[in-house]
Amino acid sequence: AGKPFTLHRFPLDQKNRSLQAWDSADEYLLDYVFEHHIDANRILIINDAFGALCCALADKHCTLVTDSFVSTLAYQHNLEVNELEHAQVEVLSSMDTYPEDIDLVVLKLPKNAGLLQSQLAKLSKLDADIPVIAAGKAKEIHTSTLKSFTHFLTEPTTSLAVKKSRLIFSKTSAKAIDSKFPVSWPLEKTDFVLSNEANVFSRDSLDIGARFFINYLPMGKKPLKVIDLGCGNGVIGLMTLAKMPNATVTFIDESAMAVHSAQQNISHNLPERVKDCRFIQNDCLTGFENEGADLILCNPPFHQANAITDHIAWQMFMQAKAALRHGGELRIIGNRHLEYDDKLKRLFGNCKTLGNNKKFTVLSATKRS
Ligand code: SAM
Repeated sequence: AGKPFTLHRFPLDQKNRSLQAWDSADEYLLDYVFEHHIDANRILIINDAFGALCCALADKHCTLVTDSFVSTLAYQHNLEVNELEHAQVEVLSSMDTYPEDIDLVVLKLPKNAGLLQSQLAKLSKLDADIPVIAAGKAKEIHTSTLKSFTHFLTEPTTSLAVKKSRLIFSKTSAKAIDSKFPVSWPLEKTDFVLSNEANVFSRDSLDIGARFFINYLPMGKKPLKVIDLGCGNGVIGLMTLAKMPNATVTFIDESAMAVHSAQQNISHNLPERVKDCRFIQNDCLTGFENEGADLILCNPPFHQANAITDHIAWQMFMQAKAALRHGGELRIIGNRHLEYDDKLKRLFGNCKTLGNNKKFTVLSATKRS
């Protein structure tokens, strides 16, 4: 590919600065594209984590598809840092349909096999004979991965492994097959049914942390202004609405599929409360400073793009403090070993334990200053 780029992970101020914004699968994929598909102009790029593919292919007409709001911020930042703002890049969310006029598809294999299936299903609706090149860690390419390609596209071939990465070569064949998503299941102890798109956290069953957290949600008639931060399928906000007839809830997640699922779940289960809700794809609570929220509920994430990290939880807690009114409360659930109580004490100067079991703890911190 030749030209060197500067690429940053997002957000920029993570503690572990040694984590890279690209990997050997990106390099392998790009080398292959430059050697064998140099004439392809309209390129569909799926799951580029921090914009490595997008920057390297900036001379082409690229359409990026991502489920992640943070990835979108990373593309924009990395295009700017590399003075590529002129690049013709269109960004689509994972809920959008793919464009028809495409010469080449490059796809970074997601860890989530269901997300891959939902993406291959969309590709199966495009015209036949568009080359699809996927790249990933060799150890994460299983027989079942290749079967998914066979099912939705053409029988794939694979490359040799280079630096522990491998390429998969396939083509669209206009099979137009639907994926099994969204998947739906009844929410225990309620009449609700939860619908989950492919990339939704704990999409096949209720998360055990969320199950415990539901026991500690507020009840009563107060008109609380609530935020469900990192809402996933929206189960926490849905149960809050069910217990609080006068509350309003803002559902926030960085995943487009999560925000879409949360919206569907309120529309189908509590249609009369849609008017009390907002559904927003966002990076934590950026832009929500001085929101005057009464209560922020959060079951925080603890990994990003395969790296275990608590930086997102920390960002959520800090921004929650800024978004709360004086006297407002942040209520969270966490694995006991993560010691979120220390973090909350440091940040809020107080932290109360509302409940514990062997694995989880529910904590409450109040904004006093
Ligand atoms: N609230 C749901 C539940 O309890 O089942 C989901 C909780 S899950 C542990 C954490 C959620 O945070 C995921 O849905 C994930 O997509 C979301 N998330 C991760 N990073 C985020 C960010 N930077 N901004 C907003 N949400 C984020």
